[in-house]
Amino acid sequence: MRHLFLNGPVQNGPFTFDTRPGKAVGIRLAAALNAILGLPSAPHLWNTVTLAGDLRHREADGPKIPRQRFEADLIADKYPLGQSPVGGIMTDTDADVSGLALEMIENNLRSGTITISHETVPTCRTCGHMTSAGGHPCNACGSTDTQDRTGLHLVAELAKDRPILDRSDIHASHRQQPKHLQHTAANVAQRLILSRTRDHGIDLSPLGLNRLVLDPRVGIHATVLAAARRHQADMAVMTITENAANHIAAHGQHFRQHDSTRLQYALHGHLPYDHMACLHPLYEAYRATEEIQDYFERWFLPIFSLRAKTGTRPDQLPALFKQYMRAHLARPVFADEAAFEAVQHSVSAGNTEWITDKQALANVMIARRDTSGDHCGAGHD
Ligand SMILES: [Zn+2]
Repeated sequence: MRHLFLNGPVQNGPFTFDTRPGKAVGIRLAAALNAILGLPSAPHLWNTVTLAGDLRHREADGPKIPRQRFEADLIADKYPLGQSPVGGIMTDTDADVSGLALEMIENNLRSGTITISHETVPTCRTCGHMTSAGGHPCNACGSTDTQDRTGLHLVAELAKDRPILDRSDIHASHRQQPKHLQHTAANVAQRLILSRTRDHGIDLSPLGLNRLVLDPRVGIHATVLAAARRHQADMAVMTITENAANHIAAHGQHFRQHDSTRLQYALHGHLPYDHMACLHPLYEAYRATEEIQDYFERWFLPIFSLRAKTGTRPDQLPALFKQYMRAHLARPVFADEAAFEAVQHSVSAGNTEWITDKQALANVMIARRDTSGDHCGAGHD
């Protein structure tokens, strides 16, 4: 089984990695795990099919830049100058991704898990945007003038014979299965409309659904699978928080496998990157070089977030830094190959015990396969 860890596509919002390093946790985690397995750098994945993106593009000053280019420029601005990712960038509307998504939709249409049918949905009378029921103002233009409109849509029937998320969908050992998530992800309607009104996205007109695009929650799955396929991986593991997984799991039910490539979620928690300043006295006390600090913040903490799936609190940071330093100081001169292989096995199997095992961690630090030059990854040397 050839794995590849890929970040759950990051929404292309108004931020940079310097100002919001928390947005890079999934990217850094995927890079660290791929490096341990000796895999090449994976592309960084981005979600550009958003209503906010539509509005930003519509309101942008100056000459109209094509949307694909507009999004690509915004993504490039997220990275410090000269530090674009080694494995490249993929967005959820790249040609590879839409090709794969349409193939998967066609397969699902053939097997009947997805249908194209007439649906009546509340629609804004002013701009034509599909709105939610309940008379809320239109999210696109603010108008309250909505009407029920009937038209063709792409609809998924959720499987009745299996849960939305089962054990095989989660990259974790049996003892670390997220019971709560499996329960909450199941709380969705039996039928999901997968077509959306957006300016930008995977165009569904080849299926006769004019002016509609694929719901980005489906597209995110196709993005991860397309990236895995490009790297000939047969197990695509998407790093994602529990909340985000809860938001997309039902939409992904029929989009987690294509040919021999499967998709699993590896859950991780949030990191308190806004509170790193509290570590400065400790950094000084340990005479920690900038490289050691960087490695702790960009490599160790993302890996730790795989263990702390419900999040890491700021008051845990000092103890975590001490734990990291104990492993750093315990680094052997030569890596213990057997111990390192045991960690590789754990990473492939979704076990996380090694993360809090000083010897195991020390061996990884010495034997780590570098991801040098990857800004959001671990490499700094
Ligand atoms: Zn509207």
